[in-house]
Amino acid sequence: HAKSLGAARYALFDESLRARATSAMETTTALRGAIRRGELEVYYQPIVDTASRTTVVYEALLRWNREGRVCTPNEFIPIAESTGLIKEIGEWVLRSALSDLVTLRAHGQDVTMSVNVSPMQLRDDSLPTIVRGLLDEYGLGGADLALEITESVLIDDMGTAKSLLDRLAAMGVLIVLDDFGIGYSSLNRLRAMPIALLKIDKSFVHEIGHSESDTQLIRAIVAMASALPVRTVAEGVETEEQASIIESLECGFAQGFLFGRPAPIAHWLLESAQQR
Ligand code: C2E
Ligand code: MG
Ligand code: MG
Ligand code: MG
Repeated sequence: HAKSLGAARYALFDESLRARATSAMETTTALRGAIRRGELEVYYQPIVDTASRTTVVYEALLRWNREGRVCTPNEFIPIAESTGLIKEIGEWVLRSALSDLVTLRAHGQDVTMSVNVSPMQLRDDSLPTIVRGLLDEYGLGGADLALEITESVLIDDMGTAKSLLDRLAAMGVLIVLDDFGIGYSSLNRLRAMPIALLKIDKSFVHEIGHSESDTQLIRAIVAMASALPVRTVAEGVETEEQASIIESLECGFAQGFLFGRPAPIAHWLLESAQQR
């Protein structure tokens, strides 16, 4: 009895494994055509100066308009990563974001652009050349662009990542450490990297007001950052209360639904038209 149950369980396990593999394959195939069919779209979310609440940067956030549904990156970036498709997609995002930056500026917005890059892209020696080429193509300087990396990049593969990041930083590109606080990077590694900005993970920000210790933690991160010295962004700010505590902690920049949700470029162009 036990034996047949075991076999049945194996069969089930097998089934779900096969289903998952199939759906990953389907996603990969679909993703391959997505750029070609124009199904990928970059949304933008403002990053504001905490004191003045004016938008200083837009973060590019990828979306996939797939069969009438807007998919967020967590649903397909991991697959793009594991198949290597992320290189092509990442370059497409960079191009779109820089092109849209030119448009935003033409509409009077004095902003820069921040783009997420995956660990896989940081293993590709050609990234600085690609970035240089795109900046030149759009008549932009290095300082118009920020690249957001995650702590995992600092842990695996430090050597390659460091030389790539150094080359990008030498061009004036700002290197941003995203989701800071949930990874394991040591202060030493942090200091060795050309990081200009730390984004404090939203999980800390969400606890502000509920947990005194998380507020203290943010205070400590801001203090540590200013000693490095790097500037700080609080991500995931959703309430006025969170915003005012963030401001009192002297965290210079903030991002979150309170200031604006990720939206297509047209939304932000309309906004700048209304401000004039
Ligand atoms: P991230 O870079 O940490 O981006 C912030 C995420 O938090 C975004 O999710 C954003 O929509 C969400 N968010 C912003 N404000 C708030 C808030 O106030 N409350 C809450 N609950 N969430 C907020 P999204 O757009 O789903 O992106 C998820 C992740 O996917 C990003 O996290 C980033 O790591 C990755 N990603 C996005 N676009 C790209 C891309 O072009 N390339 C790569 N490699 N990764 C990307
Ligand atoms: Mg980011
Ligand atoms: Mg983040
Ligand atoms: Mg995040």
